[in-house]
Amino acid sequence: MSRLDDVAEALSYFLPTARPHHWIGGHGDCSESFCPKCAPQALADQRADKPGTDMWIDGGWEAHYGDSPAFCAICGELLAYTLSEYGLREELDHFEEWQTAPDRPLSSVVAYEIYAMCEAIYPREGELADRVAKIADDHVAIFRAQDPYIWVAVSTLRPSQEG
Ligand SMILES: [Zn+2]
Repeated sequence: MSRLDDVAEALSYFLPTARPHHWIGGHGDCSESFCPKCAPQALADQRADKPGTDMWIDGGWEAHYGDSPAFCAICGELLAYTLSEYGLREELDHFEEWQTAPDRPLSSVVAYEIYAMCEAIYPREGELADRVAKIADDHVAIFRAQDPYIWVAVSTLRPSQEG
């Protein structure tokens, strides 16, 4: 296993549940994404705007491929996504600029964003992989400090994994 795989696994304990990704297909406006709960409302709204137009709820994938993190346009809930290479580079720049302060509380959505970067990296070793692994490493440390209860539970369950 590469260093990247190790940090991705450590990060995986802090991930929230991401909702499947939906949008309005057919002749609707497909530019926005929705969670399963809000998709019917979005369809009703678009049908009201353009009566008689053929449109439907599309998608539902667990890992929609895209250039950026995805959130429901109505309720803001995190949607499942996989980063493109362009998206990966954008996120990498964003996190390197952001320079997370160790005492800043982080949400599990941030864990998902970093995990998505780890998943999008090929090859698994090299300059790009090292940059993502460093960001993941720094954040795993913050998540553990922030939520020691989770980390204690994980270490107890899997004593052989941590030195
Ligand atoms: Zn929603």
